[in-house]
Order: sequence, then structure tokens, then C-alpha cells
Amino acid sequence: MGNGKYIWCRNCEAIHHVSSFDRAPSYQIASGEIHEIPANDWRDFMGQHAGHKLEPLTATGNNYFPGGSTDPMAAVYIEASNGSETLVLRLSRGSIEESVRYEIMKGRLIENGFGLEIQEKEIRKEMQLHFSWAPAAPLEDVKINLFVTLFREIVSELDPKNVRTEEFSYSDDNISYGQLDSSTVDALMTRCAGHFLPVELASIRRFVETHREAGDVMALIKRRAVSVEQHAE
Ligand SMILES: [Zn+2]
Repeated sequence: MGNGKYIWCRNCEAIHHVSSFDRAPSYQIASGEIHEIPANDWRDFMGQHAGHKLEPLTATGNNYFPGGSTDPMAAVYIEASNGSETLVLRLSRGSIEESVRYEIMKGRLIENGFGLEIQEKEIRKEMQLHFSWAPAAPLEDVKINLFVTLFREIVSELDPKNVRTEEFSYSDDNISYGQLDSSTVDALMTRCAGHFLPVELASIRRFVETHREAGDVMALIKRRAVSVEQHAE
């Protein structure tokens, strides 16, 4: 992110990130003379876009990291402005060695509230473990799939506004975790009632009750939803 300063070439729709390397060229003393070693990125950009319409952009501070902040390969959205127009820069790279590519969208980042998800992979893994069910046997995969489907259905009917979250993710600013409340547990068990044997239902309820805290696998994921609202040119 750096200082949040960019140069936008309006002719080529190209972006240069103004970094501290640009502004602080290094110096070398050779045979008593001081030579400036130019910051190449800056010089290259200014050379390529000589005579073009260049505008400085400043990041508004409104950013979105859909893949969390720890994945270096995930695309990043940065809102920036030239003072009169707002743009969204989409930064991505094809591989870790490649430099960042910029895609310019005329528009702004808008908050779309929150969405709810279940921790499907974690639930499946936990359900396949023997000790979760002792003394009963674990559910067969086909029944685990059915349970996950029913749980997803129940969660899709919840209003994210009513889900309070207590735990935040360390790797993704956009998500937090909320305990599964008793009314949702009851709704889930009612949904399951028509599909499982009484002995399975007892085990499922025990599983759900044991794993419903915010740090556990039945906790709900509340995800911040952000999108780019593009404006017509
Ligand atoms: Zn240009």
C-alpha cells in the first residue's frame, strides 16, 4: 500500500505507484564526482508516458482484500481519487515474481453489508472423527453431506444482522465468527428430524451443542461484502 500515491496515465490507462524509491534516488561517489542513480521505475514510467495526460491519485483509505491480508497472490482493491473522480484500482499478479498489474475501474467501493457462511470443510472433517460420536459410530459420508446441506439451508434463511460475532479471523479482516444460537440449533434439529434416525438425531444434537461456540466448527462465518459500483463514463 505504501504512501497511497499513484500516477495515472489517462492516455494509456496505466498506473504507477509512487514509492519511496522513486523520490529518493541513491547516490554513488566515483572518482570524486557524485552520480545520481535514478530510480528506474519512475524514470521508465515517465519516459513511456512522456507527453501523455498524467494525473496524481491519492488512495482514499477505502480498501478491500477479498482473500484476506495474508495471501500475497490474492487481488486487492484500492479506492483512489484525483480530487474530482473516484477510481478503483484492482491489483493482481500472475505469480509471486511478477510485478503488480493494475486494472482501473471508474467507480467506487461500496459496502454491501454481510453474508453468512458455514465452515463446511471443517464440519465435514470434525464429523468424520470417531471421538466426536463416542460411543456411537460416526455418520456415513452421505449422511454428513445431507447434514451439511440442511445446515446451509437453515443458515441461508438467517438475517446476518441478527448474528452477533465474537471472534475475528487473524488472516482475513473481512470475516468474523459467531456462536450458533439456541433457536438456530432448534431450527436445524427440526429440519434434520425428517431425514435421520432417532439415534442419529441424538448424536447430531450432541455434536452441534459441543461445537457451536464462536471458535468452533459449527460457528457461523460472517463475511463483509464489498463490491465495485462502476459509474457510466
Ligand atoms: Zn501513457
